[in-house]
Amino acid sequence: MLDRNYKAELVGVFGCPVAENPTVVMMEAAFRACGLNWRYLTIEVKPENLADAVAGLVAFGMRGVNLTIPHKIEVMKYLDDIAPDARLIGAVNTIVVKNGKLYGENTDGKGFLRSLREQGGIPISGSKVFLLGAGGAARSIAVELALAGARQVVIANRTEKRGEDLARTLNESTHCRAEFLPWDRRLVIPEDTDILVNATSIGLFPNTEALPDIDYQTIRPGLVVCDVIPNPPHTAFLKKAEARGARTIDGLGMLVNQGVIGFALWTGLDAPREVMMEALSKEFAS
Ligand code: NDP
Repeated sequence: MLDRNYKAELVGVFGCPVAENPTVVMMEAAFRACGLNWRYLTIEVKPENLADAVAGLVAFGMRGVNLTIPHKIEVMKYLDDIAPDARLIGAVNTIVVKNGKLYGENTDGKGFLRSLREQGGIPISGSKVFLLGAGGAARSIAVELALAGARQVVIANRTEKRGEDLARTLNESTHCRAEFLPWDRRLVIPEDTDILVNATSIGLFPNTEALPDIDYQTIRPGLVVCDVIPNPPHTAFLKKAEARGARTIDGLGMLVNQGVIGFALWTGLDAPREVMMEALSKEFAS
């Protein structure tokens, strides 16, 4: 008798708008490479339907989903448990369904950390970080750096309240010392900085020539400079940093790495990182 199983395991992403989210490309490439009959569905969920959509995860027997704009914060109230780092970040970007229960995780900052560990060439523990931005990506990066033992994080942000809130989260809940710097003028990067991160959306396609307003002469050779922008990965910011002799890490690696972590959470398997990277790189290039 033939062993037939036409039932696919389902994961995906809830967002609104969501049509331009490219995660399906790397996830389905990974499923194919591993011979898994899994599907990644890109699903538009309007804010008023989020509760029903989350309940639908259990009804459909789905293995989990990613969350993107505008659901990352709102979704938290519908979950059975939330990982401690995601709680500190204040946002969930991945749900894992296990035995009918919903677990919230945040893989963004962890993806960043993995890139930094692989390519940074410096210890994170004891490091001093200069962080541009205090939005969702910045929060996840700051929290993971703090939990990984960063000594100090200077947070520069245009909107004061967001920057102050993030500094307070780190100071109250981690051993890392955080300081907020209003970003109302050209920023000087202190000489003792170990890691500089652009966690703003400045430079994102199609505004690829836009640059964060910092004094690029204060980037010292050997400084580790990271960007969260995945498309284009080789941003104007990273080009400027390279010209100063910095060691650079792009946002494409971070995006792939957070997908690698999500893949492992859902399937319990190691993800084929190179396959995912190639799929996404090709997608962005086209
Ligand atoms: P948010 O909207 O939450 O935050 C945007 C941040 O950028 C804020 O700090 C905002 O400052 C700042 N900003 C935007 N424009 C300017 C400007 N002209 N001058 C100064 N500051 C500015 O977005 P996210 O944090 O979710 O996303 C930020 C970027 O991170 C996006 O480009 C996204 O693609 C990328 N990202 C990458 C990921 C990856 O895996 N590589 C994962 C998640 C996000 P203010 O608070 O003052 O508005």
